[in-house]
Amino acid sequence: MSDAILVLNSGSSSIKYALYGASPDLPRLLHGQIDRIGLGPEHACDGVDTPLPLPGDATHADILDWLLAHLQQEHGALSIIAAGHRVVHGGRDFAEPAQITEDAIARMERLAPLAPAHQPHNLAGIAAVARRWPQVPQVACFDTAFHRTQSRIAQLFAIPRQFSDDGVLRYGFHGLSYHYISTRLPDVLDKPDGKVIVAHLGNGASMCAMENRQSAATTMGFTALDGLVMGRRCGELDPGVIFHMLRDRGMTVAEVEDMLGSDSGLMGVSGISSDMRDLLASDAPAASEAIDLFVYQACKKIGALAATLGGLDALVFTGGIGENSAQIRARILEGCAWLGATMDAGANAANASRITTPDSRLAAHVIPTDEEGIIAVETRKLLRN
Ligand code: ADP
Repeated sequence: MSDAILVLNSGSSSIKYALYGASPDLPRLLHGQIDRIGLGPEHACDGVDTPLPLPGDATHADILDWLLAHLQQEHGALSIIAAGHRVVHGGRDFAEPAQITEDAIARMERLAPLAPAHQPHNLAGIAAVARRWPQVPQVACFDTAFHRTQSRIAQLFAIPRQFSDDGVLRYGFHGLSYHYISTRLPDVLDKPDGKVIVAHLGNGASMCAMENRQSAATTMGFTALDGLVMGRRCGELDPGVIFHMLRDRGMTVAEVEDMLGSDSGLMGVSGISSDMRDLLASDAPAASEAIDLFVYQACKKIGALAATLGGLDALVFTGGIGENSAQIRARILEGCAWLGATMDAGANAANASRITTPDSRLAAHVIPTDEEGIIAVETRKLLRN
């Protein structure tokens, strides 16, 4: 039997998972993903489709139980010695990965109302591992933790201070992705400790301003709704819109929450799709307007974050759109000409690592993110300590 670390990233409509050998270099043994949970789940592992023997409306718990049994059956020669999980919200309590205990679970459950679409599913992954392998130590890695280095000013909303004292703060998310990228900066940048903006552009999208490879500011806030235009989330919004919907349009709180969290963003503006590929392929005017707004907001946030850093040395693109869409990167880089960006069109079209010319004052790079990989690293590190 050889030792392995299981990583689970159990999200709202998908579960990503991976197994790593437990040696210091953490070789990845497999990586799989179950999508469309609730709509007839689809499963692929290392590019091979394996249908789930479960009904279309199977819950996260059903799917997780099947997945763990399947991994045990298919990989009987592996002994799972630890499990690491993505947990979206760590609040003020968790600035570092934490070993799972009953107390830690209770504290994570208390944070669930702040991330209702994610936290319960993250916790379902922890519960499923505890059911199948009760003796296996588990570690939670938080999406908020990377941002705990921010100054108090960067975290404050301008609301009465009793609420800030009570934890109504800008937490920020996508921290596992930013943490991973921060570990890669020395490999690609001349000034890895300089002023860097990382743009994580996927279905969820945010940006993080880093200095000394630590988070200094970010676009997401108390929840993952704030900031950039996302697949289905509105991003930056005047809170007055919410009162208008509630007071003047007779919508319920749940309806407004659904509208801003599931029916807005690229989907809401285009009326066509939340998927950037669909919009780029469409010739409908509403699709181009949604893309224009996505790019406009991205450029606006880059300007704001560069101002918080007092300048900008490098811009890094990651996430599904950031890693794959030369067209969106090109448009954002055009908007960064004033910051000294000169794109290398050939390198950009090839999704190369550096996509600006050698003499460009602002360096722009593409770095594929690896949230599961950083969870494996942190899980091994915590358990060895
Ligand atoms: P999630 O936030 O769910 O992890 P991803 O990081 O996988 O999402 O990003 C999904 C987004 O990436 C979708 O909008 C998808 O259209 C977009 N995307 C993936 N590949 C491409 C591509 N080649 N061109 C444009 N967009 C792409």
